[in-house]
Amino acid sequence: MLPDYDVIIIGGGPGGASAGIVLSESGLKTLIADECNFPREKVCGDGLTGDSIRNLKYLGAWRDVLNAGHRMGKIEFFPFPEQSFTINAEIVTFERKVLDDILLKKALKNNVNFEQLLFTGKHEIRNALIFLEFTKKDTNEKRIISCTYAVIATGCQKLNVLKTISNGKINKPDLAAVRGYYKGDFPITHPMVYFDERLKNGYAWIFPMGRGFFNIGCGVKTKIASSINLQLLLKEFVDEINEKYGVAQGVWKEKPKGAVLSSGMKNYRHLKLKNTFFVGETIGSTYSYTGEGIGKALETGINAAHTILNFYKKKKDIGKVYRKILRKELFPRYRPYFWADKLFTSPLKNYFYRKICVSKRLQNVIAGILTERIRFEEVLSVKKLYTKLFWKR
Ligand SMILES: Cc1cc2nc3c(=O)[nH]c(=O)nc-3n(C[C@H](O)[C@H](O)[C@H](O)COP(=O)(O)OP(=O)(O)OC[C@H]3O[C@@H](n4cnc5c(N)ncnc54)[C@H](O)[C@@H]3O)c2cc1C
Repeated sequence: MLPDYDVIIIGGGPGGASAGIVLSESGLKTLIADECNFPREKVCGDGLTGDSIRNLKYLGAWRDVLNAGHRMGKIEFFPFPEQSFTINAEIVTFERKVLDDILLKKALKNNVNFEQLLFTGKHEIRNALIFLEFTKKDTNEKRIISCTYAVIATGCQKLNVLKTISNGKINKPDLAAVRGYYKGDFPITHPMVYFDERLKNGYAWIFPMGRGFFNIGCGVKTKIASSINLQLLLKEFVDEINEKYGVAQGVWKEKPKGAVLSSGMKNYRHLKLKNTFFVGETIGSTYSYTGEGIGKALETGINAAHTILNFYKKKKDIGKVYRKILRKELFPRYRPYFWADKLFTSPLKNYFYRKICVSKRLQNVIAGILTERIRFEEVLSVKKLYTKLFWKR
């Protein structure tokens, strides 16, 4: 029996679209199914840093992004209201709605098609084929579509699909945030991140988008999200910024919206299905602590597509090969973010923040990790790390 498609990608965000872009050069009959029609909104900080930039270049999408994005060369961090440190690193802001649309359009050529379909999570594996159940959103009509390989890129906003596949073992998202687009008069020309005590180890950000618009938001760990009114804190934060720069109130484009993030590869172990590739935030591919997730979603999608292309038609379960690649190539890069999360949420955080504020060397190490100039393995051992960061010559 022949499948309807060689590959079905479910979810057209960065994780799914990047897999689609790589497969679009291959001749494999591919379907991208998303419950939304594009362009669709995705709540995000809209910041593209080191790994996003590298992967967008790899996908041949960097020029398009750069032409329409807002490019800056540094990020300023405020661990204390009156003390900051600056990291020299390229960062481009780009409205996610537009970015995701560019990426999806880039994937839709040759044998790659798009349909607006909702995956219900129901699936069956028979005769080496995967049968997936979808509903058509407008009519509620059910459809079963078969494929040889499936890429699940449904993100982490709704967990029903992942719960069905993992028999309920899935970890819930660990971060929650709100953000909105604000038109204001402040003379801010580079991204700023405030580690505000009221956010209890979370942070607030203000990212210039160009033409007087700013992406402003704040986020916390989900375990404390229910005890904090993020919308109210965001409003207070904006009032304080207006006051700091002595400018009049600006206007929100619309009421700030909330969303969750899933970080630290927490669900990588729970999602295993024959010849199926879980990419992006389904497995928790976002970096802990910083919340950067676009680059990693792109990278997992690229890895999944390469595994399909390299092992297509092999009898074995190639989902396993992909998981091995993630473990070997991706996991080491999560370590600095994991440790940063531990360190900067510990009682020692102010000590470390003060060190960073006055040390150019530490700031360069952070810039190196953010821009991927430094591989964490190079500073991995505790002794080496200590010497590199704190030894006074
Ligand atoms: C407030 C906030 C700020 C952030 N800021 C940044 C930042 O500045 N920089 C950064 O790099 N990252 C940031 N992130 C993280 C980033 O948004 C995510 O890591 C990224 O979107 C993950 O991409 P993805 O493709 O895995 O999932 P998504 O982008 O969530 O895409 C999933 C797609 O799947 C579709 N879908 C879901 N369920 C189904 C279903 N059942 N059937 C069919 N389709 C379905 C959805 O419609 C969606 O299009 C932020 C996140 C939040 C919430």
